[in-house]
Amino acid sequence: MIHSIIENVKITPHSGHLASYIPALANQSKDLFAACLVDERGEILSFGDANYSFTLQSISKVMSFIVAAEHLGLEKILEKVDVEPTGDPFNSIVRLEVAEKGKPFNPMINAGAITVASLLPGDDVEARVNSVKQYLAQITGHEHTVNEEVYRSELETAYRNRAIANYLKANDYLEGTVEEALETYLQLCSLEVNTEDLAKFGLFLASDGLIAGENKNLITHKTAQFSKALMMTCGLYNASGKYAATIGIPMKSGVSGGVLCAVRNGEIEHLRGYIGIAVFSPMIDEIGNSVKGMIFLKQLSDQYHLSVF
Ligand code: GLU
Repeated sequence: MIHSIIENVKITPHSGHLASYIPALANQSKDLFAACLVDERGEILSFGDANYSFTLQSISKVMSFIVAAEHLGLEKILEKVDVEPTGDPFNSIVRLEVAEKGKPFNPMINAGAITVASLLPGDDVEARVNSVKQYLAQITGHEHTVNEEVYRSELETAYRNRAIANYLKANDYLEGTVEEALETYLQLCSLEVNTEDLAKFGLFLASDGLIAGENKNLITHKTAQFSKALMMTCGLYNASGKYAATIGIPMKSGVSGGVLCAVRNGEIEHLRGYIGIAVFSPMIDEIGNSVKGMIFLKQLSDQYHLSVF
């Protein structure tokens, strides 16, 4: 049955656009499509260009949040960033002038993620980026590298993100320098993964931090709980409420076209229990979510009753 969902999605005419505001992402083929599902026993279902690597973009915000929270403790992180949805675009500046002055609303928007990037363990950009790379490698089983072309292309055009970082710094919501925070954040956005890696990360979240073959949780239940709540309420930009209602799975998307999902208790074909799901298709809608990715996830959730509500 999942095959008919995949076929439906494949024959759906293209709509949306490539994330051309990041010049290096404008060159991707719009026909790329991949999906991967993995359960707690290691059973895998994989479709399309499953080994195709793409950059994490905003999906990295979940990983940075986890690493920073595990390093400093949640309470310390929450002094610097809230957990409230904004309903605004991911790169919006407007809310930094309202409510508690300068405090970013949540770690899934750029403002919050730049603050979190500045709180990662390490004395310089390289060490902070490595702290997330190491976490990711433990989960996926291999090293991840920064796509230099994407990183350079973003850094050169990071006018809004630099403005946000300056604003955060002015209000004491940034450790270190503005450039360090920006470089850390943008390198993390430029880390490369494929759908199998992301599905494993989804499984890790679904199981509150279990690593295949080990019987201890790598993160605390509280960190996992906050991460998934943030994904559900803020993970799909200013369409998060709509997708919480229509799909009902903790998810995080990025403008390169990837979507990460953590299913707590599912039954999808021969997969059971905790299931990590990842989908990738680079054409995104006006809000920033993968068009075909969201069509796939909606049909999957309907078909296999995956909503937590
Ligand atoms: N690096 C991108 C930016 O900061 C991330 C955007 C996204 O995926 O939401 O604009």
